[in-house]
Amino acid sequence: MSDKNRKYIFVVGGVMSGVGKGVAASSIAKILQFNGLKTTAVKIDPYVNVDAGTMNPTEHGEVFVLDDGHECDQDMGNYERFLNSSLSRDSYMTTGSAYLKVINKERSLGYKGKCVDVVPHVPLGVMEQIENAGKKEKADVVLVEIGGTLGEYQNILFLEAARMMKNKYPNDVMYALVSFLPTPHKIGEMKTKPTQYAVRTMQQTGLTPDIIIGRSEIPMDDKRKEKIAFSCSIKKECVISAPDIDSIYDVPENFLGENLDKIIINKLNIKKTKKNNKKIDEWKKFVKSSKNGKKKVKIAVVGKYFDTGDFVLSDAYISIIEALKFSAYKNHIGVELTWVNSKKFEGKNVKKELSNLKKYNGVLIPGGFGTTGIEGKIKVIEFIRKNKIPFFGICYGMQLACIEYARNVCGIKDATSYEINPNGKNKIITILPEQKKLLKAGDYGGSMRLGAYPAKVKKGSLAYKLYKTEKISERHRHRYELNEKYIEILEKKGLIVSATSPDGKLPEIIELDNKKHPFFVGVQFHPEMKARPLDPHPVFNGFIKAAKEKMDK
Ligand code: GLN
Repeated sequence: MSDKNRKYIFVVGGVMSGVGKGVAASSIAKILQFNGLKTTAVKIDPYVNVDAGTMNPTEHGEVFVLDDGHECDQDMGNYERFLNSSLSRDSYMTTGSAYLKVINKERSLGYKGKCVDVVPHVPLGVMEQIENAGKKEKADVVLVEIGGTLGEYQNILFLEAARMMKNKYPNDVMYALVSFLPTPHKIGEMKTKPTQYAVRTMQQTGLTPDIIIGRSEIPMDDKRKEKIAFSCSIKKECVISAPDIDSIYDVPENFLGENLDKIIINKLNIKKTKKNNKKIDEWKKFVKSSKNGKKKVKIAVVGKYFDTGDFVLSDAYISIIEALKFSAYKNHIGVELTWVNSKKFEGKNVKKELSNLKKYNGVLIPGGFGTTGIEGKIKVIEFIRKNKIPFFGICYGMQLACIEYARNVCGIKDATSYEINPNGKNKIITILPEQKKLLKAGDYGGSMRLGAYPAKVKKGSLAYKLYKTEKISERHRHRYELNEKYIEILEKKGLIVSATSPDGKLPEIIELDNKKHPFFVGVQFHPEMKARPLDPHPVFNGFIKAAKEKMDK
């Protein structure tokens, strides 16, 4: 589509947070894709952090990394998984980044001596970035999710940008409100009033919804739709029922059932569309396969961001959870995840706790930072290596596997990482040279080795068997790396470096001989960030397959 005709759909949330704006926006993008349209997404987070990189995962969930290295909110992973495409830094924005852009422009005389105001200059910057995101992807339709809830102070500038966008493109912009409809038990009736208030609040910002997506526990009946339509001055068919469902991947089908794709296409007057039934069937097949897993492989995830209650977990490790599920469906099986706090393996009952691990078909150690729970994770790796339980180590998980091997197989008892003990004698894991300066300068934001880097997989390795190619590209987020000086010692004792950076310098994958251990693989990168529903990740596929074989034994 030419830049002139591009359409924009702003998605905002009413009544309360957490009603699933992100899933609604990704699902709208998906059903438009089903109609042959090229869609992309922009996520706006109202916080002042310039990006999500400096935030603790227990605070704001997983930090998702894009190909271009941008560190952003976990919702970006959601968009990539739904759209099956890789997004760029133009697709992510915060209050911090929006202001920073304007301030930097002012500092370099970009406003040519003018007085720079919050309005219009900040919203203009926001609009420019949204336009760039559309341009870059040559999108027909750009979905823009504005974080936060209507009525709060934080997102007001972004709502203003949404309003100004319609001034600029009167026929190409529409607004979808995702609202909540409670059914209080004592009353026993679904209530529309909070949504009516949300619409009033929205109108105060100069926006009127074209579509209202009603999130509720049970489906919305006709009467409620009529009531909302009447009181909010929109057509009844534009009130969409979006009840709770088993899986977020059900939402696109639900929207199709409500004819939401047709409504949007008509409203935006999009001329050329072509329903792609093959794509719809593929998606439906995936959703179906995600439900028929009676048998489940038991996977333990041993990590440390487990202190704040169960609901935090699914946020902090969302891409890993999804990647495991996609690969499980591909292997025609379900997956049962158990969160195990690594500190458990540092206390008194270590032996018993370790032996409990035998009930799992596979153990995954995800990425992490700092020193908490590290010794416990190393104990776990030793146990599963010796007991031949499938192991998958990601980033820190891979680094710790190298330390364990150095300590217990190569006899380097004090093997450590620079991150754990910068003064240690045997730093098996060392700091990347360029990182030393950055840390010294206190430069923590967006400064790790970030984003997609190519790597070369060694033929004949297990990694090669999984990827079926020598050239791969994976996303990174780390400051430390397996120390070159120790590679020979580790390899002599059987640890295999099965992928490196193309120049051979940076180790990217380590593994144990597949004949001696059913599956022992560590990766320096984050494969979970490239796993997609219809295109699961090869290393996750291999891990689940090994776990399934162990279960069937
Ligand atoms: N803390 C380790 C590093 O910075 C691992 C990072 C990670 O697991 N993402 O290298």
